[in-house]
Amino acid sequence: MTTPDTSHHRNALVDPFGRTIEYLRLSVTDKCNLRCFYCLPKGFKDFETPANWLTFDEIERVAAAFGELGVHRIRLTGGEPLVRKDLPDLARRISNLPGIDDLSLSTNATLLEQQAEALYAGGIRRINVSLDTMNAEQFSDITGGGRLDEVLRGLDKARQVGFSPIKINMVVMKDTCLDDYQRILEYCMQNNFTLRFIETMPMGAPGRDASDQYMSIEVVRESLEKSYNLLPGLMTGGGPARYYRIDGSDFEVGFITPISQHFCESCNRVRLSVDGTIYLCLGQDDKLELRPLLRDGISDDGLKQAIIDAIARKPERHEFKDKPSQVVRLMSMTGG
Ligand code: SAM
Repeated sequence: MTTPDTSHHRNALVDPFGRTIEYLRLSVTDKCNLRCFYCLPKGFKDFETPANWLTFDEIERVAAAFGELGVHRIRLTGGEPLVRKDLPDLARRISNLPGIDDLSLSTNATLLEQQAEALYAGGIRRINVSLDTMNAEQFSDITGGGRLDEVLRGLDKARQVGFSPIKINMVVMKDTCLDDYQRILEYCMQNNFTLRFIETMPMGAPGRDASDQYMSIEVVRESLEKSYNLLPGLMTGGGPARYYRIDGSDFEVGFITPISQHFCESCNRVRLSVDGTIYLCLGQDDKLELRPLLRDGISDDGLKQAIIDAIARKPERHEFKDKPSQVVRLMSMTGG
């Protein structure tokens, strides 16, 4: 294997479509303490065995390689990342890596009240929290028994500890959204959280499938416009959300439209799953299995070259809209 030229580390990861990969979503577990029907099938038990989880040393090594290749943003995700033991230690190790200047977390916040301080001390500054309804009964129904009060306490604690921004991600569903988005919006405005609406992607279980629940976000936007004047927002966020500011306030709301208006042309990320697989696209199967390489003693240069070679195979786009019934993987397995 030739030695990769990583001497001028910035932008070593440019794919064949000219997209620079600067963002790694890193799944620390495929397990979750909730069972949101659009994400994890009820009764699902086929989780990765612990022997196949990347260890913290292995994760740190992969993160360091990405950092040297030009990735500067890392998000810890899952499954539910807070169920992985000692997550704050991993956060500290990653936030200390050269080149990584932005460490964030996606969580359902049910365990956040207990862990917020340690995670902040570990270097995490930004968090995204999934919250699809402010109705406790509906929350329990969507999440397979989750408790809304735990989430709200976790969010309160996160605000007190000083995470900023705190973003709330609400998956837009036919059955829930229109009843409830106004309540979430008011809650977010009161607490200075950023709200983002996300279209459901066809990634859940057959049966009560996410694709049955698909509703274009335009419906929410039109509905919002009846009560508020939406102006172009100032937030960029570095991701796929388009932001609008509510006239007369600083409050911004984002719309993420993987289905109705995909944003693959500006895709800047890849995902690392708990078993050490790099998935090059959320909706395609193209991947690089790093665990065997790591456990066979690959050199640091070899690791970086393998990552560069994989980025050269990044697919142009997902096909969620054209092939909604093709569920490539569960979201929890990829790392959402
Ligand atoms: N447990 C963490 C959380 O709740 O944020 C991180 C992982 S979760 C898989 C990440 C995000 O993916 C959540 O906001 C969840 O709502 C979203 N998600 C999961 N399945 C989805 C689907 N089928 N369509 C759209 N979003 C989905």
